[in-house]
Amino acid sequence: MTDFTYAVDADGVATITWDVPGKSMNVMSMTGFMELDGMIDRALADSAVKGVIITSGKKDFAGGMDLNILAKMKSEAGDTPAKGVFDGIMSMHHGLRKIERAGMDPKTLKGGKPIVAALPGTALGIGLELPLACHRIIAADNPKAKIGLPEIKVGIFPGGGGTTRVVRKLGAMMAAPVILEGKMFDPKKAKANGLIDEVVPADELLSRAKDWVLSAKDADIVKPWDQKGYKLPGGAPYSPQGFQTFLGAAAMVHGQTFGAFPAAKALLSAVYEGAMVPFDTALKIEARWFTHVIMNPSSSAMIRSLFINKEALEKGANRPKVADEAVKKVGVLGAGMMGAGIAYVSAMAGIEVVLIDAAQEAADRGKAYSTGLLDKAIGRKQSTEEKKAEVLGRITATTDYAALAGCDLIVEAVFEDPKVKAEVTAKAEAVIPEDAIFATNTSTLPISSLATASKRPEQFIGIHFFSPVDKMLLVEIIKGAQTGERAVAKALDYVRQIRKTPIVVNDARFFYANRCIIPYINEGMRLAAEGVPLPMIDHAARLLGFPVGPLQLVDETSLDLGAKIAKATKAAMGNDYPDDAVDEVVFWMVDQGRLGRKSKSGFFNYDEAGKRQDYWPGFNDRYPVKDGADLDTVQNRLMMAQVLEAVRALEDGVLTDIREGDVGAILGWGFAPWSGGPFGWLDIIGAAKAVEICETLEAAHGARFTAPQMLRDMAARGETFYGDNARKAA
Ligand code: NAD
Repeated sequence: MTDFTYAVDADGVATITWDVPGKSMNVMSMTGFMELDGMIDRALADSAVKGVIITSGKKDFAGGMDLNILAKMKSEAGDTPAKGVFDGIMSMHHGLRKIERAGMDPKTLKGGKPIVAALPGTALGIGLELPLACHRIIAADNPKAKIGLPEIKVGIFPGGGGTTRVVRKLGAMMAAPVILEGKMFDPKKAKANGLIDEVVPADELLSRAKDWVLSAKDADIVKPWDQKGYKLPGGAPYSPQGFQTFLGAAAMVHGQTFGAFPAAKALLSAVYEGAMVPFDTALKIEARWFTHVIMNPSSSAMIRSLFINKEALEKGANRPKVADEAVKKVGVLGAGMMGAGIAYVSAMAGIEVVLIDAAQEAADRGKAYSTGLLDKAIGRKQSTEEKKAEVLGRITATTDYAALAGCDLIVEAVFEDPKVKAEVTAKAEAVIPEDAIFATNTSTLPISSLATASKRPEQFIGIHFFSPVDKMLLVEIIKGAQTGERAVAKALDYVRQIRKTPIVVNDARFFYANRCIIPYINEGMRLAAEGVPLPMIDHAARLLGFPVGPLQLVDETSLDLGAKIAKATKAAMGNDYPDDAVDEVVFWMVDQGRLGRKSKSGFFNYDEAGKRQDYWPGFNDRYPVKDGADLDTVQNRLMMAQVLEAVRALEDGVLTDIREGDVGAILGWGFAPWSGGPFGWLDIIGAAKAVEICETLEAAHGARFTAPQMLRDMAARGETFYGDNARKAA
């Protein structure tokens, strides 16, 4: 069985069909590429062949390179990995360049054979880089198809010639959304922005491709960059126009990434340097920078967490082996901020929803949230009136618990008050089927204690969403002491239906995500109270690759929520409570009426429209700035506050799978994605170095930085979390 097949018809048109056996989507492997290369040789050498169509036997063209291969490229590239990786990429460039030159005379540019890519559907990554090397790209008019180069999203960049070709085809400015942001387009948009050449009805795809092959002239198959006098669209770097683009791009990328993402920087370098030299040299430069990125541990860490492990979790890596538990009818209790969002994502997934609140008005308001989101989507042409009617038709907003009859899942999102939660649990359980699963969306109350209100604690579980529900990709599933396997399976099947990424954790204070986020925010406030300049605190975090610094984050989540959680935690922990120094700041800010964005005043000032302005100078009147703050120390404190909590969650058995700890951290609170997550970050710096940092911090700042025993053991044994010398899970 081969990934490609080759056939020549009576008119001398060869068709190479990509159809990887046993997969629903084509992905490129090294052996696949060699097969393709052999078929191109054969077509070019066969005088009976006039031209070639490269297409797919599946509904889509290709999803890209097999990322499992990319993740291992470095470790499997021999004793001189950089050379091995570079040589591997260059051989791919040679293969693609051979398609582009198609046997033509390099001087006269005559005598080549036309090669067209015919794309039935989605074409991503190498699945677009291969077509870009062809002489024409024709796509079927399939609005569901996605066309693009999303590599940057998993920490690499288009390294199969895509960077060099897209820049030369569109110019640096127009190429930026494609290669730098990884934007994907449907065929019509891809045609409009010049990425592909033609869109035709699906049933005419192959006939149109064949017509083109048979009618193409010598001039039709010479790429602009292979012609004399080629000029980069929009100007080369050292032209007045180009200078503006390149300078602007460098500033923009740095402004957004704070230099924390190696792939973005490398991509910019490849584009800039490549734009000043001939095409073949530019490919070599692209290959060098690509090698540089692959050699950086960030790329394999990002691919591992953001692609391989994320997908494994979504496919149910930790799902108990019980029958399908797909949800048909969900009851959502509480139509407030969270309940309204949960109702929306459920109805969007085709699930029937009963949305309950104490007053009809509140229930209606909850449903109206879906109306608002759908109207916005229609405005952006991402939805239609029919779709809206269909989705809204699935949501029944009511106060009547009897409407919950027949629900196979309940998600409770009423006030964060055990009494209210117990009351609605009993009311719902009186109506729902015996085998229904009851889930609570509590963010702070232990699942096991809420389960005492249930008649069926083995069917009681936590399904913890993040706000805003329609945007946040992570859902934390929490097992109480008595939660059974069916409840876990139900929760996982539901999360799969609503297309989010699940992690499954055990019950403990703040579960996993909040357990790590709170110390991060608190460390930021401690630093502020100690007199570290406020901008330095947030910038230190941005330089580590966090999307928002801790002070900005606390303004978003609100200081009064912080005060509420602090009070409840203190009541529960008594003398063990560790955060008095932080509370002083939080309670004082609340006393000043500075609650964060919602009061238009917090660590920042806000304008009338709620737009964030500068830091509030009043803070430093009470907590004066002190000289001598050191960036490394500030960064180590912010990082370790979260990372050590993740390790402790693993030690305590709250986390049982490091993949969940890493994926959950990136999707849940934006933990430095370049590092692959807290455990990925620890592997990059090494356990020994981590322990050394902890010892320094512990000496200066106390026990919250004491290195967990697990880290010490790993340091002593030279172990990592992932990879060949991975720690043996208990
Ligand atoms: P909210 O105050 O916006 O909504 C709660 C809703 O429950 C209100 O509409 C209220 O009228 C309704 N309600 C109260 N008592 C009820 C009863 N007896 N019967 C029916 N409805 C009743 O609160 P929220 O922010 O949506 O939070 C809801 C739950 O989700 C809480 O447990 C909270 O801890 C949790 N949570 C919140 C967030 C967040 O960011 N806001 C994130 C994760 C989890």
